[in-house]
Amino acid sequence: MSEQVLSYLTENREQLLKKLNDFLSIPSVSTDSVHKKDINEAAGFLETYLTEIGFDQVEQQETAGHPLIYAEYNQAGLDAPTVLFYGHYDVQPVDPIELWDSDPFKPEVRDGRLYARGSSDDKGQVFMHLAVFEAFMKTEGKLPINVKVCIEGEEEIGSENLYEVLHDKKELFAADFAVISDSGMVAKNQPTILYGLKGFTGIEITVTGPDHDLHSGMYGGAIRNPIMALTHILTSMKNEEEVITIDGFYDGVEPLLDEERELIANVQGEDYPASTGAPETASEKGYTAKEHTMARPTFEINGVYGGYQGEGTKTIIPSSATAKITCRLVPGQDPEKIQTLLEKHVYKHAPTGVTVEVEKEKLSAKAYKVEPNHPLIEKAAESYTKAFGKETVYVRMGGSIPVVEWIEAIYNIPIVLLGFGTPDDRLHSPNESFPLDSFDKGMETLVYYWKSVNQK
Ligand SMILES: [Zn+2]
Repeated sequence: MSEQVLSYLTENREQLLKKLNDFLSIPSVSTDSVHKKDINEAAGFLETYLTEIGFDQVEQQETAGHPLIYAEYNQAGLDAPTVLFYGHYDVQPVDPIELWDSDPFKPEVRDGRLYARGSSDDKGQVFMHLAVFEAFMKTEGKLPINVKVCIEGEEEIGSENLYEVLHDKKELFAADFAVISDSGMVAKNQPTILYGLKGFTGIEITVTGPDHDLHSGMYGGAIRNPIMALTHILTSMKNEEEVITIDGFYDGVEPLLDEERELIANVQGEDYPASTGAPETASEKGYTAKEHTMARPTFEINGVYGGYQGEGTKTIIPSSATAKITCRLVPGQDPEKIQTLLEKHVYKHAPTGVTVEVEKEKLSAKAYKVEPNHPLIEKAAESYTKAFGKETVYVRMGGSIPVVEWIEAIYNIPIVLLGFGTPDDRLHSPNESFPLDSFDKGMETLVYYWKSVNQK
């Protein structure tokens, strides 16, 4: 049973934490070439550790950028599934360094939290997995599942070479399902299943009228104002009930079922007016704010510029105006198709007397969702609940994680997002930290999870 494995983790806690500290002490900042040596050291640390644990094959895969660590364990038997475990060993830069209360690369425990860059995102969470693998090998002599490990060194710089590696070495990384621990829970000690992520796309609209700013007394009444023209286009795209009025925008969007509405209602919501300062919430007609942020597509104007911005008045008809627009998408929506719909809508609503240009955003991603009652998800929820002693909640997130989309596109396998971070971890910011009890309970969750999914 699991007891031996759990005792191993408890008895060896100090040593494991010391080893984690060694890992966190390596400044593996991926964006700065000054840290190339450290990146290699962090990759080397993982290579050594995975070999010590007893993986059958461990290797550094060279990429055009930083190396990726690949490891394979295949002795769990034919009945056991193979899991692809993804994580990253690179970290964000530490600037502004003066705002840190301790050295970001000298891990320090204060009030039950381990402070260091990467403690939560993602070295700490990667380490938990490796420590659990170690515990299984040391006590049971084998892992309950077959494992393929993929730990990259470029997540914080957009995973530049990951897609190519996963795509070109499809056989090597092929698995029955994937597990990623690079996310968090909605609150500390609140087990959370993240079962959906939104997709993303965008456009930029530029409206041009005269070839220079004009005197409004001499030309007002003769020449169309580009800002007014742009405003006309923008207000035609979403109405006051927060319903997007672009033809075909909602085509293919799955209806929000009652069961899912119930799951969403069970998540303790954020008090949006309190956390944002906005006087009240505004969400799509027929949906709560939580439902809209988690499960319905959104349309946002991210910036508008044009005309005179200085002090006082300047009586001009500006030459041009620009708006930047992005949409968060849900399953059933294709980013490229949405871009085309947006473009068509803009041209259709463009007034005469101006030239309208649409530029399509290059970064696009499809939404991802796994059914909340999928057996792999249910087992994850049970494992969380057992370890944390609290019912697991289910959430969908408004953001996107590119690797999730890629694994889905290349392998079409279920992806389980087992996040252990907390909202107070300050990812990417000064004083990043991770609660030590989440470290313990997270590892316990993993022990239960691997045991529960070890039959195909
Ligand atoms: Zn991360």
